[in-house]
Amino acid sequence: MPDKFITIKEVILKNNCPECYNSEGLRLTFKQRFVETKFYKSITPGIEHEIMCKNCNSIIYPVQWTDDIELVFKYHHKAMVPKKGATYLKKISWVIIGAVGFILIAIIVAIIYAYL
Ligand SMILES: [Zn+2]
Repeated sequence: MPDKFITIKEVILKNNCPECYNSEGLRLTFKQRFVETKFYKSITPGIEHEIMCKNCNSIIYPVQWTDDIELVFKYHHKAMVPKKGATYLKKISWVIIGAVGFILIAIIVAIIYAYL
């Protein structure tokens, strides 16, 4: 099952792009990974980030960051509040849990009746 990412914050950076030197193209995005299966949906606490230039369409990797970009990144990274990690059970899981519970109760009732 491939991991999915939700964008939790996108910031427009006023810095010059190290690739094309345009000062309007840089976007810093923070993403949070979440896992979705048939039975549950889970938000992981880890945060990923990416700087991309919309002008030249390049991803700006940390090695290319200038000191200014690094400063702005640190500032936004600190201000970032990740969503709490959480797992949500889907309906099918509840149906299974309900069915198992029902069977257990039926067995217990049957045992009690057998000893009466
Ligand atoms: Zn660029």
